[in-house]
Amino acid sequence: MKPPEDVLAELRALRAGDLPTHGGRTLAYVYDSGLSEVDSLGAAAHALASSANGLDPTAFPSLLRMENDLVRAAARLLGDVPGVVGSVTSGGTESCLLAVLAAREDRPSPSIVLPTTAHAAFHKAAHLFGLRRIDVPVDPVTFRADPAAMAAAIDDSTVLVVASAPSYAHGVLDPITEIAAAAAARGVRMHVDACIGGWVLPYFARLGADIPPFGFRVPGVTSISVDLHKYAYCPKGTSVLLHASAELRRSHYFASASWPGYTMLNTTIQSTRSGGPLAAAWAVVEHLGEDGYLQLASVTREAVARIREGIGEIEGLRVLGDPVSTLLAFTGDDGFDLFTVADEMKARGWYVQPQFASGASPVNLHLTVTAANHGSEPEFLADLAASVAAARAAGPVTVDPAVAEFVAALDPATLTPEQFAGLLAAAGLGSGAGLPDRMAPVNALLATAPPPLRERLLLEFLGALYTP
Ligand SMILES: *Cc1c(COP(=O)(O)O)cnc(C)c1O
Repeated sequence: MKPPEDVLAELRALRAGDLPTHGGRTLAYVYDSGLSEVDSLGAAAHALASSANGLDPTAFPSLLRMENDLVRAAARLLGDVPGVVGSVTSGGTESCLLAVLAAREDRPSPSIVLPTTAHAAFHKAAHLFGLRRIDVPVDPVTFRADPAAMAAAIDDSTVLVVASAPSYAHGVLDPITEIAAAAAARGVRMHVDACIGGWVLPYFARLGADIPPFGFRVPGVTSISVDLHKYAYCPKGTSVLLHASAELRRSHYFASASWPGYTMLNTTIQSTRSGGPLAAAWAVVEHLGEDGYLQLASVTREAVARIREGIGEIEGLRVLGDPVSTLLAFTGDDGFDLFTVADEMKARGWYVQPQFASGASPVNLHLTVTAANHGSEPEFLADLAASVAAARAAGPVTVDPAVAEFVAALDPATLTPEQFAGLLAAAGLGSGAGLPDRMAPVNALLATAPPPLRERLLLEFLGALYTP
């Protein structure tokens, strides 16, 4: 046997190659309260319950109790109206999946109406559960959903209307009241995807921000998702899906007594569910409480405001839309390549997330700002300005015309592993080479591919990565 301390040393060495999850330098994927006791508490609580199984709440009543506590806390935050129930899930995507599944029921040929800015989790839901997606273009300047167009897209097949509070890509708040009214008028369910904003926008509102209502107090809202592993600063693996009533929730529950084993009785997609993430989230939410979250929201709000202002002062940069939350997307003038800016930031120790052009949304860089960014805004902005200057000096990133031609000729429906290998080689990413330091040439190449081809290429890449 390998001694445990050796295994842990190995694990630490592996983790050292990851992006840092603390310190505010990774502005995507991770959410850092900046409070070390929050992390140690979450880890300790996780360890205490990680072997318990949420599959059977009668066997592990502690998990039942903690789940009800978390759902109650979420409901209190998102419009404290009677009758709200919910489920703790493994993450935002699972919450969105279940909202769609619950709405689908047994309707023949069902569809969902969603703005083009809705999270891709809804694309996954439509794909998995066999619903037609009606993608409704958003306002090309504000990137907010267009309530009239959303209303017009609802028809007899619609089982769910979706809007975001806020959208991930631009951090803008959709007109929830108008969209919910349109859904209600047609007797259709309306889901508010507050995965990323649900635990922070109510606190922003308490701090004086002008946040239009988006919770259950808005007539017509029937479900809301809010991720605990985002702005509740809990360890990864927890989200809450709330429903306005138990009746609306029931259709994502699942039971099977038709086999010789235990009656399988599930609230979510998972069956065996680790108690670890749930207990960790419960502990962090108990610890921080409303005053803790208000304090974290206050410093986060200040950090976002400072970064937004600073971006406006950097020649050639422009924030997209009017973000109200903790997310900022900014684009640049034609004088430099944004993917190169991301690489330059990486070289300076910051991870910022490139977003490809889509519809009216130009190529841009996305920032997820958390409490841990407070205090280092000047350093971030100085490095951003330096990165833009370096990108200007470096000039445009060009795609080798031969490679571009090769990509243009690919058909996502018939792409073969050999073609993919050929493309990797042509792009200088030959097998086993690992990821290049600079992603700009790869991103520039991917940007030439239409979304279906980009999806296909990246899935092929994923399969190559996950080959042991
Ligand atoms: C993060 C996010 C999701 C998906 O959540 P995961 O936890 O990554 O599965 C869905 N909707 C919005 C708006 C999000 O920001």
